[in-house]
Amino acid sequence: MSAYRGRFAPTPSGPLHVGSLIAALASFLDARLARGHWGLRIEDVDPPRCPPGASDAILRQLEAFGLHWDGPVAWQSARDDAYATALARLEALGLAYPCSCSRKQWRDYPIYPGWCRDGLCEPDKPHAWRLRSDLGLRPVRWEDRLFGPQRFDPAELGDVVLKRKDGLWAYQLAVVVDDADQGINEVVRGADLLDNTPWQRQLQHALGLPEPRYLHLPLVMGDDGQKLSKQNLAPALPETEPEARPLLHHALTLLDQAPPVELAEAPVAEQLAWAIPHWSPARLRADPERRLTDAAG
Ligand code: GLU
Repeated sequence: MSAYRGRFAPTPSGPLHVGSLIAALASFLDARLARGHWGLRIEDVDPPRCPPGASDAILRQLEAFGLHWDGPVAWQSARDDAYATALARLEALGLAYPCSCSRKQWRDYPIYPGWCRDGLCEPDKPHAWRLRSDLGLRPVRWEDRLFGPQRFDPAELGDVVLKRKDGLWAYQLAVVVDDADQGINEVVRGADLLDNTPWQRQLQHALGLPEPRYLHLPLVMGDDGQKLSKQNLAPALPETEPEARPLLHHALTLLDQAPPVELAEAPVAEQLAWAIPHWSPARLRADPERRLTDAAG
């Protein structure tokens, strides 16, 4: 088996919160236990959604928690050419098409009905690019390390956008191209992306890229029963090591790693030195409905 290469890939739409800490910490522990490479990729493909300073705050937060990444930080904003090459290839394969339809036009349908598949409905209007989910790999199956066997028909999920009308690259294409170019063979991330994986698998298959292994993590919910997110104003993580200590312990507890209580206030390096050899994803119950309640967060 090739050497482990994992990553943490935050979108800098704001500072990290406990929900994103779970993904950062679990992917870090998984890579470190395997003595693998753990890269950091800033997914800044959507500048209007990324306030100035958010990326820098994320780097400081990761440092404060002792989550030191390997190698230089990768920035999606510098990767236009790679995404354009991949899109051109998909178009040549007949697996990507331009689409002028607006969300408003198909609002009565659960997914985009594919009206532009055989030619642009309104050629003079700006157009996005979509994936022919009906022509790619179907069904898509994989064995999630936590959620077990997965089976999806991407055509039921719809023709996902690969490039937006405003010219910005969409997450699905960027993540697949970057994971492949960075040699990522282990993806550890939140379960909110479980049903994005079928499109990513279709894209990997179409572009002849290797398939990473996947471990999707249960989501952290706030007291209100909603997924923690920047949108619902989950509190930002601290940027100093002493403040990070109790939160790191809390995150290990949320991940069912049962860290010793004596470590609750210990320096982050000490907590991580315990957590790496003890990392056991099997402790996370494989229940898609499971929610990690962030009572202390
Ligand atoms: N950038 C994505 C996010 O912040 C995660 C991408 C991934 O891990 O595949 O939700």
